Amino acid sequence: MSTDFDTWFFNNRLPQIRYMMLFTAPLYILYGFVEYRMELHMPELRVFFHALFVPSMLIVILGMTYIPSFIPIMKALLFISPICAVFGNLYLNVGTEAFDYFVPEIYLNIIWTIAMSGLSLRLGIIVVLFNIVITMMFHYYQEFPHPYMYLYCLWMLSSAIFGLVTAIIFRQVNYSIFTHQQKLAKVEDTDSLTHLWNRNAMQRFFHKSYQSQHLPISVMMVDLDYFKQVNDKFGHIVGDSLLVEFAQLLQENLRRSDYVGRFGGEEFCVVMPNTQVTQAQTVAESLLAIIHHHNFNHVEHLTASFGIAQMLPAESFEGVLSRADQALYSAKNDGRNNVKVFVSNASAYA
Ligand code: GH3
Ligand code: MG
Ligand code: MG
Repeated sequence: MSTDFDTWFFNNRLPQIRYMMLFTAPLYILYGFVEYRMELHMPELRVFFHALFVPSMLIVILGMTYIPSFIPIMKALLFISPICAVFGNLYLNVGTEAFDYFVPEIYLNIIWTIAMSGLSLRLGIIVVLFNIVITMMFHYYQEFPHPYMYLYCLWMLSSAIFGLVTAIIFRQVNYSIFTHQQKLAKVEDTDSLTHLWNRNAMQRFFHKSYQSQHLPISVMMVDLDYFKQVNDKFGHIVGDSLLVEFAQLLQENLRRSDYVGRFGGEEFCVVMPNTQVTQAQTVAESLLAIIHHHNFNHVEHLTASFGIAQMLPAESFEGVLSRADQALYSAKNDGRNNVKVFVSNASAYA
């Protein structure tokens, strides 16, 4: 499963982490006070640990989920808090007669950690294995073999397995939702005829941060010449197949770093990152020659007109598109089958 999915999954689980912290913190406060009334040894330490330390840690984790820069620390606290809880339980209770009443906390801790806490599956498994090992070690040093050791092991492993199965299924379900969403987003962004990007997708992609990293950016509008006549003469089905053939020709003859989209009808757009307008002009002229020499199915010859503009530093995608469009308009007016560059707002075209 991809890192994209892991990020998406984690972000979707932030509310889960918040709810878990919100419900677990009061549970521990209650736990601390119940213990305090039971005349066990170290009552102050129990109250401090269960009613103050653990709940504070959980509330801090909850707060950190709202601050993106604190997320790594939040994950580290989420990793150590179940270990602290088990360690505290063992330290306070192993070897005492009351220990058996405190064992359920360890089972709950295992299921909580692996299935509910919001820790990644890998980290959850590490914490649980660690907790099982320290539980065994405490027993080993206190009284070994403990008469109920095998029962403890059985229930701890069962808790781990049930937690693991729940976590894996939850992850799988989310993975299928994620892949579905990705497919839908792709369909939404793709032109169904040529499989190029559509206008919406291109507009969304060329946001400000992309632009600032890839300037100079040149934008090229391409429009097939007299395409209506092609449709009228050969029919729409042939027209469609020519559009697909033309889209492939464009893609094959552009760099991998260039983005090609179909803006509707017989109009295409090419965005060329890290490209000066003069370089884009050279590319357009070579495309003109390639189109001229290409043997299209049915019609043999097609021509296209090109309008180019270079993106200004703070310009919007819409702004540069409109200037490339104006250059295209000028190419059409100048007899078609040529390249025009938008030079300045004084409507000069090279
Ligand atoms: P110009 O050189 O001025 O661009 O002339 P043109 O005929 O190409 O331009 P015009 O805008 O007058 O007509 C565009 C034509 O493109 C109209 C329509 O028949 C055709 N067209 C638009 N979308 C599609 C499509 O999806 N499939 C097919 N087969 N034709 C389309
Ligand atoms: Mg046209
Ligand atoms: Mg057109």
